Amino acid sequence: MEYKVRFVNYPEHYRRIWNEVIDAMSECLSKGDLIARRQLEEFEANLARFVGTKYAVGLNSGTDALLLSLKAAGIGKGHEVITVSHTFVATITSIVFNGATPKLIDVGADMEMDVSKIEKAMTKKTRAIIPVHLNGRMTDMRIVNTIAQENGLIVVEDAAQALGAKLGNLNSGASGLTGCFSFYPAKMLGCAGDGGAIVTDDEEIARKVKLLRDHGFKRDTNELLMYGYNSRLDNIQAAILNVKMKYLSDWIERRRNIATIYDRGLKGVGDLLLPPGPTLGEYYDVFQNYVIRTEKRDELFEHLKRNGVETLISWPRPTHLHPALGLTKFKLPMTEKISKTVLSLPMYPELKDEDVRYVIDTVKEFYR
Ligand SMILES: *Cc1c(COP(=O)(O)O)cnc(C)c1O
Repeated sequence: MEYKVRFVNYPEHYRRIWNEVIDAMSECLSKGDLIARRQLEEFEANLARFVGTKYAVGLNSGTDALLLSLKAAGIGKGHEVITVSHTFVATITSIVFNGATPKLIDVGADMEMDVSKIEKAMTKKTRAIIPVHLNGRMTDMRIVNTIAQENGLIVVEDAAQALGAKLGNLNSGASGLTGCFSFYPAKMLGCAGDGGAIVTDDEEIARKVKLLRDHGFKRDTNELLMYGYNSRLDNIQAAILNVKMKYLSDWIERRRNIATIYDRGLKGVGDLLLPPGPTLGEYYDVFQNYVIRTEKRDELFEHLKRNGVETLISWPRPTHLHPALGLTKFKLPMTEKISKTVLSLPMYPELKDEDVRYVIDTVKEFYR
């Protein structure tokens, strides 16, 4: 069906930056600069500068950013890693595929890790915590970092949904051992396919992740220093990301602006629970997603669909309740409640004010 307001709008996104993107791609193709060339190095420098870390390493996905972070940090068999169930499954996959055991804890009403539950989940085997900055809002890293320091744990930030988010003076991705980003097309900064990166201040971790992404191959001396993967960020994707980096701050402001319009329009409507506002306290949220909650979620989803508004449910079943993953022993009441009530409204910089108003009016009509 033809939606009036789509959940994402890639054609419009590219229409606005068409010439610059095509020029960047042409340059790579005409010179044959396809793997690990100048554009990749430039992008890594751009990303590290934006986040405020010493190093950034481009990878093929956010998933591999998590996977290689844990591997470089020596997390493996016999270790436990604390994270949430209310996340994209890749967070948990990265633990399992390193041979470690996920310990899942609940989230709070703002859908971020409930940091008051971390210490209760710790055992002698705990080695790491993966906070997930979901929907463009940061987990309370002040508390996560304090607990980690006191207990000798490493922190890998899943910042795949939170490039540019801040909490006080902490930038998303910058205060853990690594911060993991995804450039999947719908993310804050999306490439034209799959991509990801880690950022870090730790020279040794940056060096290891660079080796791990390229078969353990030290190119300048032709040595194989370890077994590795093929997980490089394509040079052509890096070139596209360099173009888009210039607009990132404006796009973030536009997302926050849209969130304000949603907030004003939907406040007090029906039984809706809105996300924390864009100007609350020390949080600088970047609104990767604008997620509302309602007991009438499925009916509202259908009503919006019938009226041409495309929405998304992330996630209709909590990750730990998929039996094939072997995680059903975890009891996470808030996560389970959230999965029955969440609905993500359209949220991307290209949305026009009139689109946002249409979504608001259509939601209001549902409750009339
Ligand atoms: C998108 C995402 C990932 C995975 O990133 P990919 O680039 O798709 O591999 C991991 N964690 C979270 C929270 C995400 O949203």
